[in-house]
Amino acid sequence: MNNHEHDSIDILIVGAGISGAVSARLLAEKGKSVLVIDKRNHIGGNCYDYTDENGINIHQYGPHIFRTDSEEIWQFLSRFTSWQKYTHKVRAAINDKEVPIPFNFTSIDILFDAQKAKNFKEKLISKYSENNKVPILELKKSDDKDLQKLAVFIYEKVFYHYTLKQWGFKPEELSGDTLTRVPIYTSYYDGYFTEKYQTIPKHSYTKMFENILNHPNIKIQLNTEFKNLKNIKYKKIFYSGPIDEYFNYKLGPLPYRSLNFEFKTLPQKQFQNVAVVNYTGQEPYTRITEFKHFLNQKNEKTTIVYEYPSAFELGKNERYYPIPKQENEQLYKKYLQLAEKEKNIYFIGRLGEYKYYSMQSAIAAIFELFKELNPV
Ligand code: UDP
Repeated sequence: MNNHEHDSIDILIVGAGISGAVSARLLAEKGKSVLVIDKRNHIGGNCYDYTDENGINIHQYGPHIFRTDSEEIWQFLSRFTSWQKYTHKVRAAINDKEVPIPFNFTSIDILFDAQKAKNFKEKLISKYSENNKVPILELKKSDDKDLQKLAVFIYEKVFYHYTLKQWGFKPEELSGDTLTRVPIYTSYYDGYFTEKYQTIPKHSYTKMFENILNHPNIKIQLNTEFKNLKNIKYKKIFYSGPIDEYFNYKLGPLPYRSLNFEFKTLPQKQFQNVAVVNYTGQEPYTRITEFKHFLNQKNEKTTIVYEYPSAFELGKNERYYPIPKQENEQLYKKYLQLAEKEKNIYFIGRLGEYKYYSMQSAIAAIFELFKELNPV
């Protein structure tokens, strides 16, 4: 695309991921002219997916399952895609048995003899009530001896090694509510999530992003770094790139966790029973995803991906997760102070706000921002 076509616009959006794309759409619908740039050669950020040579839909940056309880978010996205209903199920191999994650009553029944299992379930119900969610670090604080034993077992078998691999830190060293994302269920419910809407865009995430960005007021320029953008005038920026990069790392880099993916296509119809199997022991990878489960695709072959967490290194790999530790959040707050002194720029999304957003929480944050900014 030729730069002269849009050398004066209302709003520049840096990053075509979920925060940038949703912002672009909302602004375009308010009549603003918007240019979205992205340094990658595709839209969608880490939600980007594509169809491989065997017809299987692949999430290039790891498994993405959309879920929300918000009618507003659901209605908004439903304008841009139809949906494949999908209840995400995750299993882990514990003591050579395949058990549901989050750890639930079925997991207890599989791993313990009937008497012990009955005792654990009754105690969980009496302490936390039925159909509840209990974070592992809360269960660990229980003063009941049996619940203590159960907590130590689950901590070791589900959380300790996985968290060490994923973050490079022990569970209790993480700040915030990271571990509450995967609680213990005091029920037989075996879905990974509990939100009302759990789905995958029927015709791919990338198609959904194309539709979000398909508006006469929106122009897109890929393969474009913000720092290399020249000869374009704009009134405001919505910046979903890394906030530390924007300030040339002048307070030091914000740490991120990265992932290395190992994709394999296998000459068999199915590799595993569910889309994601977590490896919660000492294997070097955290999980294997088999993509065809998401859209219930029936192919002769199957494609899987192994996820190997690693440290983020600038220029070597991608940023995936802000690392939830207090000192990092403090550093982010210092960047935020710098950001507040800047005029006409809003920092958004996982990288702009250094927040471990899921897709729906990223959208919720954009909706909030727009309510505050009204009119933009
Ligand atoms: N977690 C764990 N064992 C598991 C699943 C999750 O220890 O089997 C912990 C781990 O620290 C992980 C966090 O819970 O980073 C959140 O897990 P989630 O599946 O939500 O992570 P994501 O899909 O965002 O990578």
